[in-house]
Amino acid sequence: MWWDNDSTYRGNGKSNDFYFLSTISPLGEGEDEINRQWVHLSDELKSDLIAFLKKHNDSYGLQLPREDDLTSYDNANYLWLSYELINTIRNYNNAMRNPETHEVLPYCGQIPYVQLRIKSLASSVSSAYPSATVNQYGAALRPHYVIEFENSFLALFMKKLCELFDDNPQIIENKDGVKRVAYQFRAPIYRLKPFDKYFETRHDIPATIFHTAVKMLISHELAHVGLGHLDLNEKDHVFKSDVENIRCEENEADIQAVCWTIGARFLESENHQLEISLDDLAEELSLSVFTLYFLFTWNYSVDERVWNKDTLKEYGVQDHLPYQLRAYSVLNTAICRLKHIGEWSEQEGMITSDNQPVTKKLMEEIIQEAMTMVHSYEVSLHMTQVKTEEVCELDDLGKKDEIEKMVRNEINERPPQLDKTQIPWKLGCEPEGQAELNSVCKRYQYVRQKLAESGTYCALRPGN
Ligand SMILES: [Zn+2]
Repeated sequence: MWWDNDSTYRGNGKSNDFYFLSTISPLGEGEDEINRQWVHLSDELKSDLIAFLKKHNDSYGLQLPREDDLTSYDNANYLWLSYELINTIRNYNNAMRNPETHEVLPYCGQIPYVQLRIKSLASSVSSAYPSATVNQYGAALRPHYVIEFENSFLALFMKKLCELFDDNPQIIENKDGVKRVAYQFRAPIYRLKPFDKYFETRHDIPATIFHTAVKMLISHELAHVGLGHLDLNEKDHVFKSDVENIRCEENEADIQAVCWTIGARFLESENHQLEISLDDLAEELSLSVFTLYFLFTWNYSVDERVWNKDTLKEYGVQDHLPYQLRAYSVLNTAICRLKHIGEWSEQEGMITSDNQPVTKKLMEEIIQEAMTMVHSYEVSLHMTQVKTEEVCELDDLGKKDEIEKMVRNEINERPPQLDKTQIPWKLGCEPEGQAELNSVCKRYQYVRQKLAESGTYCALRPGN
């Protein structure tokens, strides 16, 4: 075997109960690109999760929603996603309680029972982001919310991450069967700051990003549930039929989800000490901001990323803002959130596990690092990426000189300078981008009022 990269989570995960499988490792028997597993669970962990989920569903008197091969207690991917969902709900519900009395805080509620389904229907990746529905499954029996994930989306998203962070070692075996790494092609992203420092721990990166992205997606759908969007849309079809209302709800769900994702560690903390060291916190938060950006831009090619003054006009008004403005909006929200966390932490005296204070200055450094990551990612898309598969193929054909040429190209390549029109989020800085974002904000007051009348589980923040 050419490359030994079947574990991406926390280095070599073979002995662990849980790890993510790299999608650039060879396919297992009966697997294809879409239906391959990207989660490994030990038998013990698997049976624990099955028992936990069955008990959870039994307590509501419900079966799995349309059980099949994907939505199944036998599917490790499903078990892991469901566990993440339940965990996320539990954390948010705890955050909406008084830590001492455990009473629900004023104007807050508790997010109710939500189930998960993995489907295999979408034909295009752009329509494949998860969605939440109510009363679609067993409505007569017992109405409840179900979050639907597209299997192909998850598989392709993980594949993209593994390719982007492909460590691509060229292993040569001598006649005695001793293997050594002859040359390490570095994916372009590792040739740029600050990702260069992650090269040694590269196996962690796809998994860390994948995990954060899934949390963000779950949080987005839970925000629709928690803020009462699903209930209002179900009740009021006139409201639902106005696409500007839906666009406003989508933007609100993004904002809420970013705040939850970025603030999770602070929401979960029961005292003034975080369970993470200062360095790890900085790494986690900057990678989280990068993840949010990556999540909304990953499936657009270099050509599709270029925008001009007509881009927004041509897109018009749809359920979601165009991806460039969504990316701008999540970055903007994340930066505001980090600044707020910095201020709040200074006031409250938050410290890390190694007794370092969490400060405004730290948050500014994290924001800088995250924005450098976003920029380097954009630049890396314009650089030569040598793919593991290509090198293997050339080697099999005995074309050593072509491999050598690739090595020389990689060493000599200088990162290109990008124009603002090549960077999607920068469309949000333009007057037309700002105008579009403002039109969403204007609608907030009306949507908030309708939501307040209809009832929500989460406290509504004041309109802006
Ligand atoms: Zn949504």
